[in-house]
Amino acid sequence: MLPLVKTSIPAKELLMPRLEEILYSGYIAQGEAVEEFERKFEQYIGGGNTLSLNSGTAALHIALILAGVKEGDEVISTALTAEPTNTSIKSVGAKIRYADVDIETGNISPDSIEKNINENTKAIIVVDYAGIPVDVKRIKEISEKYGIPVIEDAAHALGAKFNGKKTGNHFPFTIYSFQAIKHLTTIDGGALQILDNDLYEKGKIIRWFGLDKKLSRMDNNITMQGYKYHMNNVNATVGLAQLENIEELVQKYINNGKYLDENLKGVQGVETIKYYPNTEASYWLYTLKVENRDRFIKKMAENGIMASELHKRNDLHTFLNDFNSELPNLDQFYSKMVHLPCGWWVNKEDCDKMISLIKEGW
Ligand SMILES: *Cc1c(COP(=O)(O)O)cnc(C)c1O
Repeated sequence: MLPLVKTSIPAKELLMPRLEEILYSGYIAQGEAVEEFERKFEQYIGGGNTLSLNSGTAALHIALILAGVKEGDEVISTALTAEPTNTSIKSVGAKIRYADVDIETGNISPDSIEKNINENTKAIIVVDYAGIPVDVKRIKEISEKYGIPVIEDAAHALGAKFNGKKTGNHFPFTIYSFQAIKHLTTIDGGALQILDNDLYEKGKIIRWFGLDKKLSRMDNNITMQGYKYHMNNVNATVGLAQLENIEELVQKYINNGKYLDENLKGVQGVETIKYYPNTEASYWLYTLKVENRDRFIKKMAENGIMASELHKRNDLHTFLNDFNSELPNLDQFYSKMVHLPCGWWVNKEDCDKMISLIKEGW
């Protein structure tokens, strides 16, 4: 079965000597390798400051703290995402106010964001779902108009672009996950990309118990709640090896995604996703709207291809449904949405097979 997601680990010859060296170096905690990973990740993103962490969920948590979200506040978010986007809102004691999605893309709708803003709104979380960039231009305008910070959950969208610049450059906070099946894995890990230098310094303190690593323990004075969220040298070493080939790796997803887009446009029974102007997706998954989804998934499975909706709408979780909002566009989008594999393990023959299966009908 051609899987929907698959872990990519660097070649043995590249990874193992470095891993062995760091494991027996006597220093496996947060040190030079972490520092090097952060600076190289900043270079890859092309701007901002990288706060490396032990998960994407930790990145969301710190972003919400830095955005000033507190107990009783509201955060506007989307229900079409992986659960951590929204459990993190609950972890700071805030309430989730779901905006509806754009029927053409499945991403959070700027119009619906604006309708849902009220005096309790302290932040907006947007998700580049499946690697499809959100409507950056309009969301930025809304953020500026109301003075509400945006946190971009780019866990699916490493290397996706707007106006030629990668995710991580557009909003004050952008989160990445380096969990097993994301574009780049450090085994487990994450990063918070922060544009503001002072907030970056504050983020470093929150990541390490509220302690300032630049000072000795005796000279430290904790003044805020911190956590144990840092990345260690071992995970950072895996990350450094990954970064050597990351452009090529992400490009494989993009090439497959574009090829599927080109060949599925106008085919009976399917609707391809539309992209916002000046955006380039990084296709963590290939997303398509199809008629008779269950039959479609079955036909694909019978032919050795895993197709799935992958994520459960988050508003269907009791704990993640604070306001019971109506989401008519999501109802429609979700009833047809399906993902197909398009990552580094998928070759042109696999793509051609999917295309001809779809053209046959189901
Ligand atoms: C994977 C993921 C996360 C969380 O990342 P972890 O590293 O697993 O904590 C957050 N948001 C989305 C959309 C994800 O897919």
